[in-house]
Amino acid sequence: MSNKKRPTINPKASERVHKRRKPLPEVDVLMEGILKGDRVLLSKAITFIESEHPTHQDISRQLIEHCLKARKPSIRVGITGSPGVGKSTFIEALGKHLLEKDNPLAVLAIDPSSQISHGSILGDKTRMQVLAADQRVYIRPSPAGNSLGGVAQKTRETIILCEAAGFENIFVETVGVGQSEIAVHSMVDCFVLLLLPGAGDDLQGIKRGIVEMADLVVVNKADTGRQQLAAESRKAYKNALHLFPPKENNWIPQVLSCSALENTGIAEVWAAVNDFRKHTSANGTFEEHRQTQARFWLYESIHQQLKRQFFEHPNIKTQLAQMEKQVEAGELSPFRAASDLLALIKISAK
Ligand code: GDP
Repeated sequence: MSNKKRPTINPKASERVHKRRKPLPEVDVLMEGILKGDRVLLSKAITFIESEHPTHQDISRQLIEHCLKARKPSIRVGITGSPGVGKSTFIEALGKHLLEKDNPLAVLAIDPSSQISHGSILGDKTRMQVLAADQRVYIRPSPAGNSLGGVAQKTRETIILCEAAGFENIFVETVGVGQSEIAVHSMVDCFVLLLLPGAGDDLQGIKRGIVEMADLVVVNKADTGRQQLAAESRKAYKNALHLFPPKENNWIPQVLSCSALENTGIAEVWAAVNDFRKHTSANGTFEEHRQTQARFWLYESIHQQLKRQFFEHPNIKTQLAQMEKQVEAGELSPFRAASDLLALIKISAK
């Protein structure tokens, strides 16, 4: 598209176009749609959540408030693993299993790199074809964003909307690299790590912290003829998991295997998710975990807003560079500089 401005024949025309623009859908229209499970209106509502525009943010705040009140019971399952391990094939197989029982599901994704890689996760329409074509499934690719914190916040709010819309099963997919697992772990009830058979107990370069977070470890690609290899891997992963301290919820992480391609072992994985739900609901840790997560996001959000308002403040913008030089030159202590800068502003809630 050319950057050149088109000649304006009638200077009032653009004004009229602006005035004729469709009015924003009312919050109650959106809410009514969400509560009915209308996927078009749900998508529209999520667009407001994802927007940075102040008017849209105001709408999204109202929507979230209403949706929080309309919460329905749900299970949020995080799914991670290295690229190529079979996450989308696995989600498709698990999703089909749920649909056989007529259980609606939503599939969301967190991929902070999606802006650079132009939406690798779920952006590609060829993935999860069966689920994408089913009316009982809602699929939303990762929101774009500059920071993981921002992307995570939008996904978390999207979960709330999906739950109000009656999607009882929520899958959140993330790529098994970087920090995004921690963000996903802090918004799901059950965290599933997919691994490949035959890679021994070195856990395939997956960071220790991620393995420690897993509630279920699933060895995928345990196809016909490879079961022996998969069984050996299961054993190795089981031994490796024993080395971690017990979880606060007293759940012992399960190690399973499946072939997402051949559709074997999928029902067992879902049964393990249900066992996890039963176990944690019975000892009260299911709800406790959600409360801890809500607290985490409260503080996370405060930190983010404070940081943003600090660095965007005009007084800081003018003073920071100069103080930085003084600190570098050893003329000013970094701590003194920090408190002087903080004294320059009064951070107010927006
Ligand atoms: P993702 O990057 O983790 O989402 O992985 P994909 O689901 O895109 O799968 C990567 C490749 O592995 C694709 O070619 C899949 O067909 C293949 N794949 C996925 N699951 C299995 C499986 O259980 N067995 C075999 N043999 N291949 C699989």
